[in-house]
Amino acid sequence: MLGRATLMGTAAAAGLPLVSGAAEGLKETPATSGKLKVIVTGGHPGDPEYGCGGTIALYSDAGHQVVILYLNKGEWSENPSYDPGPVREAEARKACQILKARAAFAGQIDAKAIVDAAHYEQFHALIEAERPDVVFTQWPVDNHRDHRAVSMLTFDAWLRMGKKFALYYYEVSNGEDTVQFAPTHYVDITGTESRKRSACYAHASQAPDKFYALQELVTRMRGIESGHKYAEGYIHHVQSPDFALPWASR
Ligand SMILES: [Zn+2]
Repeated sequence: MLGRATLMGTAAAAGLPLVSGAAEGLKETPATSGKLKVIVTGGHPGDPEYGCGGTIALYSDAGHQVVILYLNKGEWSENPSYDPGPVREAEARKACQILKARAAFAGQIDAKAIVDAAHYEQFHALIEAERPDVVFTQWPVDNHRDHRAVSMLTFDAWLRMGKKFALYYYEVSNGEDTVQFAPTHYVDITGTESRKRSACYAHASQAPDKFYALQELVTRMRGIESGHKYAEGYIHHVQSPDFALPWASR
């Protein structure tokens, strides 16, 4: 979702950024004093907020550090003379401000996600430098290749780091993007849904009326499944630790 990208689309003319040095916003800031370090990775600005915004707000409110790592800045446009990247980056930073998270960008290009040895290496280095306790990423069965790409890159980093951080998958724009998602864990976001909504609406260039309506249906359904008004659903990787999502019910 939110990428506006189709496989036929052409991004604004832009070459592959240098793999090293293209990322922004990441730094080594390990969590201290029992606080968790949380990373949420997503293909485009907006994906983490739509999938996990309520949970991110819960983490922030509890004093945990959250980094939202976007694979790209949403540069794709039907108009080759217009680069929406700067607008979408500003929207992402505003959304992160609302959720009290830090924005980071991996430096890839919208609709041109690359998953190869060099990019696995780069993404692993970004994740490792943050020393996360828990990482959320997009479910890999998804109709958008950027979503699949960020999921693969994140999963590979988790393997490379010895499966030591908790790994959860999230859902976005079910049916359009995420497909075949059956949560193992639920988080009651009734108390933070309004901030999630604000963070999603910070992506004003991306038709939030349309996309939030769909996402709200999803959070209502996950709420029905788990006995809350609104809930976010996650799939926990069975081989990862399961200590880092303190609000989860099953
Ligand atoms: Zn997306």
